[in-house]
Amino acid sequence: MTSDVAPRPAAVLADGAKPERVRAADAVLRSLSLPPGTDRFDVLNPADDRVIATLPETGPTAALEAVALADEAGRDWAATTPRVRADILRRWYDLLVENAEDIALLITREMGKPLAEARAEVGYGSDFVRWYAEEAVRPGGNVRDVPAGGGTLFTRRAPVGLSVLITPWNFPLAMATRKIAPALAAGCPVLIKPASLTPLTTYHCVALAHQAGLPENLIQVISTTDASTFSETVLRDPRVRKVSFTGSTGVGKVLLRLAADNVLRSSMELGGNAPLIVFDDADLERAVDGAFTAKMRNGGQSCIAANRIYVQDGIADAFVEGLTERMSAVIAGDGLADNVTVGPLIDRRAVAHMQRLVDDAVSRGTTVRAGGRMLEGPGNFFAPTVIDHVPTGADIATTEIFGPIAAIQRFSTEADVLRRANATEFGLAGYVFTENLDRALNVADTLETGLVGINQGVPSNAAAPFGGVKHSGLGREGSAEGLEEYQEVRMYNLARR
Ligand code: NAD
Repeated sequence: MTSDVAPRPAAVLADGAKPERVRAADAVLRSLSLPPGTDRFDVLNPADDRVIATLPETGPTAALEAVALADEAGRDWAATTPRVRADILRRWYDLLVENAEDIALLITREMGKPLAEARAEVGYGSDFVRWYAEEAVRPGGNVRDVPAGGGTLFTRRAPVGLSVLITPWNFPLAMATRKIAPALAAGCPVLIKPASLTPLTTYHCVALAHQAGLPENLIQVISTTDASTFSETVLRDPRVRKVSFTGSTGVGKVLLRLAADNVLRSSMELGGNAPLIVFDDADLERAVDGAFTAKMRNGGQSCIAANRIYVQDGIADAFVEGLTERMSAVIAGDGLADNVTVGPLIDRRAVAHMQRLVDDAVSRGTTVRAGGRMLEGPGNFFAPTVIDHVPTGADIATTEIFGPIAAIQRFSTEADVLRRANATEFGLAGYVFTENLDRALNVADTLETGLVGINQGVPSNAAAPFGGVKHSGLGREGSAEGLEEYQEVRMYNLARR
């Protein structure tokens, strides 16, 4: 067992610009206009567990008042022209870009990721706003004749109505904009409940949307730690017509049951267990680089993170050596420090989850090539870890890791690895590394996932339809498909002589 605590490398103590950034982050926090209220909860910095803000608990009565306000504002919004909506979204995008550094500081402060990654999230997250500013004016619908004659069918697209958006903590900006922007573009009012661990970025970005000219009350932000009372209250309200959720599969199933009672349009972006497959004929450097990125982006706390890394026998030793070298060079620490390349995990529970998974794998004969232990405090740190020869039955092979552990299994044939890769109830992302195009496409076609990265570790993009199959979810976000999630199709049948 490997449950003792490892020292944090001395390098993290070299702060560089950190004190200056702490002051800047505090200034952003002070500038936020957070709602008043007496019953409050704390938001912590996961790098040191210090309180950075307190927010009011929005109870059921206030949540229903928010439903009423958004519903009222939504009537006018649905009647605006696509051009008006597009122009406001574009101004919002410009403000997000102008305020990128402040938003990045806030993300790092409440979620922990290194500032460079937080800046990248601002780029990725604001791209959804720009994309839907452009998409808002693309005409939906079409015209076709009744096949037997006698009529012409018109389809038009109408806003689905008041949309409840529930987001996770791992990408506090991008998960919000990926939902808010298409909802607004389609003409829907919004009630958004960010994760109570990371609500501040949502408040900031919604304030910028209002500064961009968004009508008052159209977006309501709900802060609460009592998520189940919130969903049981608002999802039963007849004014609500849509729920869009990103989070764990367990909670997604609870929300789908609630949605059924009110027959709500539902989009579910749920958990993953992504296979990443490296064939003997892969470009080694590209495969190591892609696997490292697919594993370590966001410290491994991403739904599309490489969860099961399958490496073919002929390339396995070289690949493991390369990945171990990359993972060993990662520096864990407070994301505001200059040289830090991975931040903390979100909380203590996540650190304990990592330790349990490693200990279970080790007890089944896995080799630890790097890390394997939590790092000494303060904050919630686990050493970047590589474990090799993970047996199929280990918990880590069937559970979403959501942390900095690269778990490697080996394989000999394509048929064998595809059978193992698909032997999971999840189906969000998959990755394949090979220089053989035919094999790449065959593997991509055979993987039971919503998206596949071919020779690359970051397949997501505002222009790409993102979403899972099986227990990883329903519906797509981003791209034109993401807009349709907030639209109803209306049909008119015009009789013709
Ligand atoms: P979570 O399911 O615990 O929480 C997600 C959100 O749901 C939070 O806002 C939380 O407060 C809220 N929530 C929890 N219980 C609720 C309830 N009963 N009713 C209403 N809301 C409720 O997930 P998490 O720990 O915040 O995020 C990690 C999970 O999210 C992972 O499984 C990850 O794979 C998944 N995720 C998926 C995607 C995707 O696009 N598929 C993206 C990011 C994260």
